[in-house]
Amino acid sequence: MISDNEFFKNFSLLQEQLTVLAEQSGRKSDEIRILPVTKNHPFDAVDFCGRAGLSAVGENRVQEAAEKREQVAEKEITWELIGHLQSNKAAQAVEIFDRIQSVDSLKLARRLDRIVGERGKVLRCLIQVNTGADPGKFGFLEEGFDRNFEALCGCSHLQIEGLMTIAPLEGGKETARPAFARLRELADDMRRASGLALDELSMGMSGDWPEAVAEGSTLIRVGSALFGARTY
Ligand SMILES: *Cc1c(COP(=O)(O)O)cnc(C)c1O
Repeated sequence: MISDNEFFKNFSLLQEQLTVLAEQSGRKSDEIRILPVTKNHPFDAVDFCGRAGLSAVGENRVQEAAEKREQVAEKEITWELIGHLQSNKAAQAVEIFDRIQSVDSLKLARRLDRIVGERGKVLRCLIQVNTGADPGKFGFLEEGFDRNFEALCGCSHLQIEGLMTIAPLEGGKETARPAFARLRELADDMRRASGLALDELSMGMSGDWPEAVAEGSTLIRVGSALFGARTY
């Protein structure tokens, strides 16, 4: 794990680059937020974020997030799930996460809807779309997404705030950018069809966030560029 000094250096560098790249794309940098991804890093990573004034972190496993969350004072940090959620962990996930970005199937959506409904709550979420049609990735496919989205809108306890995607592993920036563009277009289509605001577009990671910003990302999920390489 890197030192807090290194983290603060990485964070200010990322902020500077984001400002420049946002301007180059004709956007304001305050339209784009950074979600630090603390998965596979010790609790210190969450602590650094709090000290840097970052108010949310991304994690991909329920158990790991639960353990870290216990160490933070309530409400100081909000927790976002960005990894695939197994059905049998859905109930626990609803307790731990403030938002689930990885709603990747109707089955999972309906299960989450039922669980939060029974508790009289509403769950903030994003719908994960596999816009690169990467066979190794979870998420809805673009084909038939309009019908699926209609069904998702029927989940009355889910507050759908936008869409999320992960660019295909293969192909680098040349395949990442069109995948991001398609997510934006899909959000535009679903906005028209549903009347929802859908103003969150979670796309871009350490290796491809400039392409995502150029295509309209509102939330970049950054791990290694802030905290260094992960140890698995
Ligand atoms: C791990 C992860 C990230 C962060 O990846 P880096 O390349 O370290 O920035 C972003 N999004 C998702 C869904 C992830 O699983």
